[in-house]
Amino acid sequence: MNKPENNMSLTGDAPAAISTTQKIATAIGLVGLFIMVLSIANVEFPNKTLFLILSLGMITAGTVIFANDAYLGKHAGIKNDGVWFKSNTSRGFWAWIVGISLTLFYVILYWYPEYLGLREDGENTGIIALFDPLSRLISGHGASQWFVYGTLYTLAILIFGYKFILKYRHNKYEIYRTYSVMFFQLGFAFLIPEILMRFNQPYFNPANIWPLNYDFFAGYKMSEFFTAGNIGMMMFIFGIISIFVITPILTYKYGKRWYCSWVCGCGGLAETAGDPYRHLSDKSKFAWNVERWVIHSVLVFVVVMTIAVIYSYLMENPGGGWFTKDIFLWSSAGFLTLIFALIMIFKREQLAKDAKMGAIGYFAIIMSIIAINYFSGNYRIFFFDGHQLRAWYGFLIGAAFSGVIGVGFYPIFGNRVWCRFGCPMAAVLGMQQRLFSKFRITTNGGQCISCGNCSTYCEMGIDVRAYAQKGENIVRSSCVGCGICAAVCPRGVLKLENGSREDRINSEEVLLGNDVDLMTLVHQKSERTKD
Ligand code: SF4
Ligand code: SF4
Repeated sequence: MNKPENNMSLTGDAPAAISTTQKIATAIGLVGLFIMVLSIANVEFPNKTLFLILSLGMITAGTVIFANDAYLGKHAGIKNDGVWFKSNTSRGFWAWIVGISLTLFYVILYWYPEYLGLREDGENTGIIALFDPLSRLISGHGASQWFVYGTLYTLAILIFGYKFILKYRHNKYEIYRTYSVMFFQLGFAFLIPEILMRFNQPYFNPANIWPLNYDFFAGYKMSEFFTAGNIGMMMFIFGIISIFVITPILTYKYGKRWYCSWVCGCGGLAETAGDPYRHLSDKSKFAWNVERWVIHSVLVFVVVMTIAVIYSYLMENPGGGWFTKDIFLWSSAGFLTLIFALIMIFKREQLAKDAKMGAIGYFAIIMSIIAINYFSGNYRIFFFDGHQLRAWYGFLIGAAFSGVIGVGFYPIFGNRVWCRFGCPMAAVLGMQQRLFSKFRITTNGGQCISCGNCSTYCEMGIDVRAYAQKGENIVRSSCVGCGICAAVCPRGVLKLENGSREDRINSEEVLLGNDVDLMTLVHQKSERTKD
């Protein structure tokens, strides 16, 4: 007798979670992870090198087998089947387990590294000792918790990058930019700094730019640069050029995507390991408002903290010739005033009312704090000591926000929580992208069938469909140019472009499907209305 069909849904049953091969692959990967857990529990392995290779190898093999089975046997094209049905990708039981495990890992990593086996006096134990052989091989030193983290982080970008490339293999843009983030993570963020340590040079990741790298101007870091001879000086100068020359030029030409989706390690992890969670981003207008206030507040915090830190450094090390703490302070105030004035004079019509109010408010507060403290002779230029401000920033933003919430909560809030709500680098690049860049996503509105794939898979919570339906260019500060909206669109509506800045923001082209004749009519009509 036939089994009765109880499912009334037109689309049939929910897709099976994972195949048998994928289950075996998951088990292999978990055994690899289990070796690490055993090492945390201080199980003594007879041969650390062998067990480290075994652990990393099994994690890699498990992911590769899983990815091959999930994508290679199928036609090229986006495969997001069943994301809203699987527990791990729909905020179900496994999502919480993954989220809580990641969060715990970050808490121990940042605040209790001794539980991972870090020993200040004597030989490391636990998982840190397991990584000692690899660390000695690359940097000549024993491992630290940051080496363990850096290795796992890099491995995650490489193996999930492989998975991502298979999934999006029909799309050249996605393939190239994934190779790019894999390259920058492995070479710039992992190997170069470790190899520099081998030669007793300062730890320096050339791809980590201030303000993301909030320690770049910290007193201890500047002392490291200035005492390391020519190479230290070159690093310092390269860091400054990255902030004031490379970043503005590349953002002008390509938008913030050159960094957020092609170079940055945070973006790299979000795009690869975080890819299964991209649809979880909040698309509401409320989230958009929170995003703008929070990310710009973090930016103000990092600017204030950096000014205070450099001011303290110059006060404690007054031998810098003409470049005294006072000259630094007033040139910083002058620079901020110049930026503020330029935006208000030339770009104010592109700012929403709350953005204008926010900018004026923040500017007034920073300037009055500088003035009050300076003229009252208080060396703590922002009421607090620069070192203290840096410590708070490191705790609140550098550790709690970017690590614990930013990655730990991937399975709950989506993969770009940090990039969207917290990263000050994204705030700087986003401002420039919105006001002074050639980048935009063009929309061929007439082709849009309103399926909503683009909005669903936009990790930054942008309602892409709302723009597409109107044939309006997407020029949003938060857009990281990942290109996924264009990749998942079944109608080829969206295109990431760098072009003339003329008419880049075209919010007038509403509901017309880019019909040129109709547009002419609208322009004539609006001219008549003005008359
Ligand atoms: S709008 Fe498109 S390119 Fe921009 S962040 Fe969203 S999905 Fe990525
Ligand atoms: S994915 Fe394409 S067709 Fe679907 S709503 Fe977005 S732009 Fe329109």
